[in-house]
Parts: sequence; C-alpha cells; structure tokens
Amino acid sequence: MSKFYEVRKRDGAARIGILSLPGGKRQTPLLLRIDSLSAGNEEIKVIHAEDSFFEELFKEDRWTVPRGAVLLPEVHPLFTKLKEAIPSLWVDFFVLSFASGMLNSPRDFVRRIINARNAIPPDVAFWVPAIVTVENAAILFYMGVDIIDDTNAVIKGYQGIYLLEEGEARLNELEDLPCNCSICSSLSIDKLMGKDAKERALLIAKHNTLLLDKEVKKIKERIRAGNLREYVEMRVRSSAFLTAVLRILDTEEEYFERRTPVARNQCMKANTMESLQRIEVKRFANRVLERYEPSAREILLILPCSAKKPYSTSPSHAKFVEAVENYRGYIHELILTSPLGVVPRELEMVYPAAFYDIPVTGYWDAEEREWVSSCLRAYLERNLRNYELIVAHLSGAYKEICRSVTKDFGIEVVFTCENNEEATSKEALNRLKRQIAELCDERKRLSGFEMKANMIKAMADYQFGIGAGTGIIAGKEGERIRITGKFPYYKLSSNGNVLARVVPAYGLLALTVKGARKIENLLSLYRMEIGDFVPEGSILAPGVINASEQIRVNDEVVFCGEKAFGVGRAKMSGWEMMESRRGVAVQVREVVARGL
Ligand SMILES: [Zn+2]
Repeated sequence: MSKFYEVRKRDGAARIGILSLPGGKRQTPLLLRIDSLSAGNEEIKVIHAEDSFFEELFKEDRWTVPRGAVLLPEVHPLFTKLKEAIPSLWVDFFVLSFASGMLNSPRDFVRRIINARNAIPPDVAFWVPAIVTVENAAILFYMGVDIIDDTNAVIKGYQGIYLLEEGEARLNELEDLPCNCSICSSLSIDKLMGKDAKERALLIAKHNTLLLDKEVKKIKERIRAGNLREYVEMRVRSSAFLTAVLRILDTEEEYFERRTPVARNQCMKANTMESLQRIEVKRFANRVLERYEPSAREILLILPCSAKKPYSTSPSHAKFVEAVENYRGYIHELILTSPLGVVPRELEMVYPAAFYDIPVTGYWDAEEREWVSSCLRAYLERNLRNYELIVAHLSGAYKEICRSVTKDFGIEVVFTCENNEEATSKEALNRLKRQIAELCDERKRLSGFEMKANMIKAMADYQFGIGAGTGIIAGKEGERIRITGKFPYYKLSSNGNVLARVVPAYGLLALTVKGARKIENLLSLYRMEIGDFVPEGSILAPGVINASEQIRVNDEVVFCGEKAFGVGRAKMSGWEMMESRRGVAVQVREVVARGL
C-alpha cells in the first residue's frame, strides 16, 4: 500500500501515475537518468536521478519506517519479515533485482515481471532497472512496469552501440546518423567518428538517452489514449525475442483479464496475428456464450461483417436488412467476423463489436479460420435448439467456415450466395429475399419497440449477467415502459423516469439510480459497499469497504452505503479497489442520500 504513488490512468496492465517524493511529483511511466557510472566493465557505481531524486529518497530520517529499494519477496526474504514486523510499512516502489536475468529467455522475461507485479500491491510503482532499450520499453510498460532508467542506454553508448527505435547498430556500421535528436542533427557521422573515445562515448550515450526519452513520451501518450497494445504489436515486430515475449504474455489470460477495461472509446485495430489473442477478443467470445440468450426465432440468419461499425449503419447491412425486413420477426441475425467470431445483432453496439478494424483482403489464414469456426461451433452447440433452420447469406471464406461447421450439426442450412458471388450482389440479395419469403408463413415485422428492447436486454445481460436484461425491460402492471431515441441512442424509461441509456461512445448501457434500484438484486457482480458518507464526483479507494472481484475499469457499478446509494463507472478493478489506498475507484454519475 502506498502513500506516495497514485495510479491515474490504466490501459491494461500499463499505468500512468503520480509518484510524490520529497523532491516533487513525478509522473510514471518514468525514465530515471543515471548520473555517473564506470565505463567499460558495465558496473554501475552511482545511480541517481536529476534534482537529487535518490539522495532525497534515501534520507532515512524522512521516513518513519526502515526503507529500502530492493524489497522484492521472490528475491528478498526480508520483505515478508518486515511486513510482519511492521504492518504499517509503506512502500512506494519496488525494484526488480537481477533484472538482467530476464534477458536469458522470453519465458523468464514474462515470469519475472508478472510474478513480481502479482506479489506487490497495485498502488505501488514497479521499477525494472538497467535493461531497458528503446526497443523493449513499450512491452515493459505494457506488462505493468512503471519506472525504467537509462543505465543500459548509457552503457551501450560507451560500448559504441547506437540505439535505434527498432534495435541497435555499431557506430562503424552506419553511413549516416538516422536520427534528428539534438546530438545527431548537430553532427555528421564522420565528425562523430573523429572525436576522441571518451567524447564519442558521451555523445552516443546522450543520443541513446534522448531516443529513449522520446520513446517513453510516446508510450505515455498511448496509455493515455488507451491503445498501447496496438503500439506494442508494432514495436515487438523488430525482434524475435520480443515477439516471443508478446506471444507468451498472451497466454497469461488471468493477469490481463483482471487489468483490462471492459470498454474503451477507442477503435481496436486488429492488424496482426497477435491481435487474435487479445483479451478483449477472448472476453467478448466468452460473454457471447455465457451472458447472451438469443430471442426465440425460427430462422438463424448468418451474415458477414462490414467494415463500418456498428454493422447496421453500413451500406451492406442496410441491403441485407431491406431484403429480410418484412420477416424480421421470424429471423435471428448473427454476424460472422474475425477476430470476434460471432456477434449477435443485439450486441453490435457493445465494445469491441462496434470498435474494431481489421485488414480485409478476402484471405483468411488458418488460425483466423480455426478461431472463428470454434466460436460459431460453440454458439451453435449452445443455442441450436432455438432454431428450425439456418440461412447463411455468406460468400468466400465465410461460407466455407459456415459449411464446415454446420455439417456436423444435422440442421438444414440454406446458402443464398452462389460460389464466387458477392453477398451484396443483386442476384444474391434477391435470392435471400425469395428464400426468406418462402420459408416464412406470413409477414412478421419487428415493431420499433421490440427491436430496441432486444438490444437493451442483450446489452444488460452482457454487462451484468443473464437475467438483468429481462429484469430491466419487464414492466409490472400499470408500469409504462418506453424506449425513446434514434439508433443507437436509446433511452429506457418507466412511467417517465429514465432507467437506462445506451452510451454509444463506449458501447455500454448506463443505469440511472431508478434503473439500478429496479434490478438491484441482479447486480451482485457489480456491486460495491462504501463507507459512511455521501460521495460527490468520485469515490476514492479508501472509501470502498467491499467491491465485487468481477468489476473492471469502465464497468457500470452500483454502490451503496449507510448514507448513500448510487451508480457510476469503475475506474479501477474491484480487487484493486480493495488493495489500494489511493486513487479514484468510481466516477459517480448519480447518487441519492439515504435516510434523509
Ligand atoms: Zn540522435
């Protein structure tokens, strides 16, 4: 637990935080500068930052308990003993010992950081010393490191190694200096080579540090924007070691699931093979299976995805809908897509279904096919009994996937696109229209209310668990339930009081206090207990008495305490609320005082 470190913004395991120190406040991700070191043998003599950062830090009289930098349980048994002896021990950051050992193998790299991060409290900063390069900085922060230093960059300078964004080069391998930093833009490579060894080393070290500094700034902006993952996928590409690190990291599902927001107001760019392994993709696929119940319809219509999101707003989906519109009351629509697998029409607004972008070439690689096939198979295994037959309006790879998956199920499948025919072609659309008309007894359009209610119900189930949707939509006798607003800005109300709103910017359903009260007993997974106060604006971590483990960043939560009941959006995970002493836990949207 920390007195001096506060996490302000999270993007997966990566964080932006404020470290309060006697010398002033520092923002993480933080790059510490080393001041002097003995060149040649790579042994660091003195390490301290600007403004006497460390001198201040290590002045024992400033602290009421023994302080030390290296107190990591896995390497330092003193940590547990100290914690037992002094329960009030405050620690603001941890330093990973023998970090260079991580470089032995990608697996060690992953294990060392994840084990350490899991062992120390979430509101404590984590420093991995002396191994950072420009190339690996992004993945270190992505894994949950908060502080790095330029030791390695400086040592490399003394070794005549010039850091590049995508690796490094020996100075004598370069013909030019591919950089615009203050050092490189003021010197030609010949001039640099002409300097004496010591000055040359200093200049290369300076360039290395400046480039690292620039990289840290870029990473900070990525965390702030919520798209560090895309940057990491780009960054690791230059190194087989780091690509292996990312692939191994992606098997650490629990670590990232506990730290990844449920929703973002950002497009998820799935441009690499690793994008398929993102926790957002796996979480969506799991929730479609665990938190979604299709409405009872006879026909399952499987459609291809569209580049424009939400799908309904795309020209291709406008055509599909027009073809089946008169019979939509018989039809349940399911969209087949990579990398999300299957997206029920009612969930097209949720994150990341309305927030992803993939390169479209018509070619699907084996892994993509296998993953999407497995999603469709799992969906059908769970829901097939709902349907009498499947109409697949699919071509190309989509059609092949659907054909190979459905052949094992013994259900009739009608394909409405001929081979080599686009799903949006006139012929295919006419065939779809004719087939649907033949299959359905009479016209049955969905009313505006039904369409909107299906979406709100599915979104509520997806967010809060099955049952929440029916709970919020159902009206008691004499209760007038209405849904107003144009797609997708729907607003659900009861007797004129708003219960919930769709928030398209995040793909979430936001509850009002009235809405939360209506389904209070169905919100156990997203419930928090707070102290004896009426919050305004935000609830800080120390004010949280209890929080469901399931809560993630940007989840809609309900909080109650002796004096207040309200709704808001989580700014940290439930487990983090319990383990932190600083930081905003929830942004309050609406609160009512109790017992007044
Ligand atoms: Zn430079």
